[in-house]
Amino acid sequence: MIQYRTEGAKGFSLVELLAVVLVLSVLAATAVPMYINTRKVAAARACKGNIAAIATAESAMVLRYGSYTNINPGLLAGPESLGNEPKCPLDGQSYTVKVTSTGTAVTQYDTVAGTGGTTLAITIGCPNATVANPLHQTAQGFSATTNSNWNVGMPALVPDSLP
Ligand SMILES: [Zn+2]
Repeated sequence: MIQYRTEGAKGFSLVELLAVVLVLSVLAATAVPMYINTRKVAAARACKGNIAAIATAESAMVLRYGSYTNINPGLLAGPESLGNEPKCPLDGQSYTVKVTSTGTAVTQYDTVAGTGGTTLAITIGCPNATVANPLHQTAQGFSATTNSNWNVGMPALVPDSLP
């Protein structure tokens, strides 16, 4: 006859194992959602940093060319440019640069013909902060109703009035 457990033998009983499994499952149930949300909040903050970097690059390039331009390839060339195209850390989507009044995408300036780009006000935005796709807003710590945290407006250019 086979004896699985003898008196005084070392080991764990079924109840002890069940208790350990229960404790581990409770820990996992609380820790995993917290971890996922922490990652979302970190991505949302990094995204805001990316948009600020794009706005800075637009400011620098507008001094050189006199118009706003798209990100790729507009902001990826020249001494003041961004080294690589920043993408939203949430899912790797490209940022948008659009004319604020019309919502149309800004095209690259044409340095030869002096056309392209725009001197109108622009908005730099993350595709994950739109009404249709509010991924950033659903992360804890940010407003669920506004997407202004991930949209930066740049004013329309005006002629230099200095003498
Ligand atoms: Zn984003």
